[in-house]
Parts: sequence; structure tokens; C-alpha cells
Amino acid sequence: MTPYLEITDLQVEFPTQDGTVRAVQGLSYALPLGRTLAIVGESGSGKSVSSMAVMGLHDPRSTRITGSIKVGGKEIVGMSERNLMAFRGADASMIFQDPQSSLHPYFTIGDQIMESYRAHHRVSRKTAKARAIEMLDRVGIPNPGRRVDQYPHEFSGGMRQRAMIAMALVNDPKLLIADEPTTALDVTVQAQILDLIADLQRDFGSAVVFITHDLGVVAEIADDVLVMYAGNAVEHGPVKQILGTPLHPYTWGLLESIPAVSGTPGPLHPIPGSPPSLLAVPNGCAFHPRCEFRDRVADGLCGEKLPDLVARTADPDRLSRCHLTGPDRIFETDILPRLP
Ligand code: SF4
Repeated sequence: MTPYLEITDLQVEFPTQDGTVRAVQGLSYALPLGRTLAIVGESGSGKSVSSMAVMGLHDPRSTRITGSIKVGGKEIVGMSERNLMAFRGADASMIFQDPQSSLHPYFTIGDQIMESYRAHHRVSRKTAKARAIEMLDRVGIPNPGRRVDQYPHEFSGGMRQRAMIAMALVNDPKLLIADEPTTALDVTVQAQILDLIADLQRDFGSAVVFITHDLGVVAEIADDVLVMYAGNAVEHGPVKQILGTPLHPYTWGLLESIPAVSGTPGPLHPIPGSPPSLLAVPNGCAFHPRCEFRDRVADGLCGEKLPDLVARTADPDRLSRCHLTGPDRIFETDILPRLP
């Protein structure tokens, strides 16, 4: 399938007084239309920073970005702010974690959706308002003709997130990036929002990047999963295989540290240590100081050489960045039935 989003050797760095923060280091992945990719990893793994780079949201005065990001064939790295303004909203949109702080409290919900629509279409206020009402209806806001004139504080948390989704999709973008869009919501509303995003993706045929740390959400919404650690991809593949038989010790550690939701609770297996400072990422495999399998690899290779992200099984869609070979390279988990 032709990718709609194609990232090649992306590096995002922030020069600071204490040194250079290497937030993303050589990230590559591709996403076709109609697929949902979940990006998972601990805080500081580069999930959000890489996705903000896709939207051209980093300030070029304080950020160094190299590599390539192509969205629908357009190169985003180095694109002028004027062209980025035309690109954002029309080709790609982003939904953020907290709709309360993403919506302007002084403007009605309708005004904010209309502004987004009129930034890309030369239409009257009346036409734009009709489009805002149509989108509010599409995302399940009851009585949209009345709600369109209300302010964000008059909406519940779940309704505000629905309004954000309406705003993100008002121009029919082919790429939607959702950065932890359900984290601030309670569990019932979270399920509704996930269903809504999945429905809209089917209807609009868009490509969706879904950033989350919640593997229950991943199991529910993703086709494919990209696992990030210390600014780079360590595993990439179809969701069932990643959750069922991961190939990377870090993915296995993430899965093993999830508590059981039913049955007799067993001991948790947290990943020892913490993620590295991005000012001083360890040599070799960045995960090696925390990896309990590094001694199975000969000659201290894990601390010296960064493994390539390559297919390590017969399945070319399953990529892993780990030196383990033989039967050791595949882990078994019972996570799928244990997820909420
Ligand atoms: Fe562990 Fe070595 Fe694999 Fe890194 S390369 S995950 S340290 S076994």
C-alpha cells in the first residue's frame, strides 16, 4: 500500500545550555490511508515530539530537525510557515490530550470550528456555521443547532473532546494525529471517543496516528504498533503479534508490567530503572542498562552497537531493534485476555 505518511531518518534535537537533547534519533516509519498506528512508550520516548514534527509545530529557532517527513507527497521538513498554515488542518490535523486547554474559553464552540473551516475555504459565515453544525452532529453532540453557540465551559469533558475532533476533521484531512486524546476522560467516555475515532476513520478513510501509553487502548484501536524508546523505534508490527509475541525485551517489559484485571492478581514485573536522559543516551542499545537479557548477547555487543530495526522473523512486517537471536528473540505473553 502506498504510504500517506512517510518518515525517514527523522532527527529532532533541542540545543540547550546543558547540551543537546536528542529527542528523536533516526526514526523511520510509513503509514497508508485507512490504517491506525499506535505509538507507545514511556514519557520522553519521542512519541509526541515526532508527531509534533509531522505537524510542523516545532519552533525552528529552538529546534534542529533533519531527515524527511512526507505527508501525501509533501515534504514537511523545511516547509515555510506560510505553506505549513495551508497544510495544517487541510492535509493533517491533531487532537490533543486536554480539550479544556485546547479550546479558547472566550469563543463559542461554533466560532472555533468555523474559524478552522474558513481558514481553508472561502465561504460565508452562514455556510461555515452550517458545516460546524453538521460536524457537531457527526461527532454525536446532541442538539447541535443549539450547542454550536455555546462556550467550552458549557460542554462536559467528553463533549469538549468530541468538539475538538469535529474541529480537527472539519476540512476532511487525510491524516489525523491523536495525542493521548482519552487520557483526561473517564473510562466510559473514553470508550465512546475510541469508537467515534474508529467510526470516523472508516468513514473518512484517513490514516490515524494514535499516541498512548495505555495498551488496553492499543488493543482496541490499532492495526499496527510502533514501540519507541529513548527517541527511536525499537519494535514495529501488527497489533496482535506485538501484544502476543513481542520481539523486543522493552516491549515485553511494558506488557509484563500491566496488572491483571481479573483472576488472582500475581506479582507485577516492572521494568527496572528509568528511561535515560536524552542529554546522554547510552551507547549501543539505549535500553541495555535496564535489559535483563543483555548477557545472552555475546561480547558485550549490547553496550557497543546499536542494533538495526529489521525483520527478525519470516514475517517482513515485524521489525525489531535487538541483538538477540534464535528462540531467545521471541517472547510469549498472555496479555490479550488480560487487557481491560
Ligand atoms: Fe536487550 Fe541487547 Fe536486545 Fe538491547 S539489544 S534489548 S540490551 S538484548
